[in-house]
Amino acid sequence: MVMRDAIKSTVETMFRFFPFPTSTGLRVVGRPGRDAPVLLTCNFDLTVRRVLRALEGLNCYLLVAPSRGINVWCASGGGILNAHAVISVLKTSGIAEKVDHRTLVLPQLSGPGIDAGRVEAETGWSCRFGPVYAEDVPAYVAAGLQKTAEMRRVRFPLGERLQMAVMWAAPMSLLVGIPLAIFRPHLLPGVLALIWAFSLFLYAFYRPVKRLVPGPVGTVRVLLLGLLGVAGLAAWSLALGHWPAGRLVGWSLGILGVALVLGFDLEGTSPLEAGATVGFWAARWPGVLKVWALVGYELERPFSLRVDVERCRGCRTCVEVCPKGVYEMVLQDGSRKSRVAHPAGCVQCTACVKQCPKEAIVADPPIRVFAEV
Ligand code: SF4
Ligand code: SF4
Repeated sequence: MVMRDAIKSTVETMFRFFPFPTSTGLRVVGRPGRDAPVLLTCNFDLTVRRVLRALEGLNCYLLVAPSRGINVWCASGGGILNAHAVISVLKTSGIAEKVDHRTLVLPQLSGPGIDAGRVEAETGWSCRFGPVYAEDVPAYVAAGLQKTAEMRRVRFPLGERLQMAVMWAAPMSLLVGIPLAIFRPHLLPGVLALIWAFSLFLYAFYRPVKRLVPGPVGTVRVLLLGLLGVAGLAAWSLALGHWPAGRLVGWSLGILGVALVLGFDLEGTSPLEAGATVGFWAARWPGVLKVWALVGYELERPFSLRVDVERCRGCRTCVEVCPKGVYEMVLQDGSRKSRVAHPAGCVQCTACVKQCPKEAIVADPPIRVFAEV
């Protein structure tokens, strides 16, 4: 069982580009009573198993909502993990008969997709956005469903970064490795070593690379690193003195190709991540957005945000859903208001715009808040 779980986790981490759906519905954790917390997640198999592991020791219910086997942030960003999905699992799971309260804890990163107001209006369940990470749920529950600032932040620690390295290296290895194994098998070990070493290096040293290598976005920074690699290779081949020019060009193109793929993701990618790499290039060549649309995503153009203080009612929802700590609450003329305190941190996820109950957050240029599909 443990072995099967480990194998599944490895495969699903390596190929997490692809959906891995698991059954939706109700999972019972421990021996929940009628006041037990009710939490919700998506039906990406890896997520469900990780969440269940994180909930060990608690007594609670976990609702698994349909997300086509895609993880929470991507599925909500793409409009798949939406109010409709939540309402359907609330109505079909029979959870209402098992508890006396009507409080549903949503994953924080579902903010861009799930219209909490609509769920409440249609089902009577009041939604709260829980922590970003499942590991923080026990502490969140122990604190009476209260989050610390740390629980609200996307942290991207080393373990997660290495998983991203594996997620990029595995499909690239397959894509390049299969034809090489057939037509140029002698090149296979070197090419695989290049892909894995570059991927692991980049994600292990993600922060120093972002800090030390110049460039406005990941593609530029990592291409610079790639060029450095090409220069090193050229110097090495000159020193050896017996590398044909064709081989040098081939390996250089390989290095730059891997750099381009990895650089695209360096700032993080999601169905909405127009603020970083895609946004940067789209501002120069709007056709980039059309290419992205071909793989099923419609990205917003980069936008800036401001709070309309006349509309703001100080409910803190924007603070609760923002994964980058962009908002803070301030006293203004005796009333609590939100303000955009750290705009540079915004990753354009749109969660704040979607969840503000007073439509007080204004995006410039205006954005569609992702429609449900
Ligand atoms: S901007 Fe909207 S979500 Fe934020 S505190 Fe004001 S009303 Fe609430
Ligand atoms: S401020 Fe930016 S990062 Fe924060 S919730 Fe809004 S769109 Fe997302």
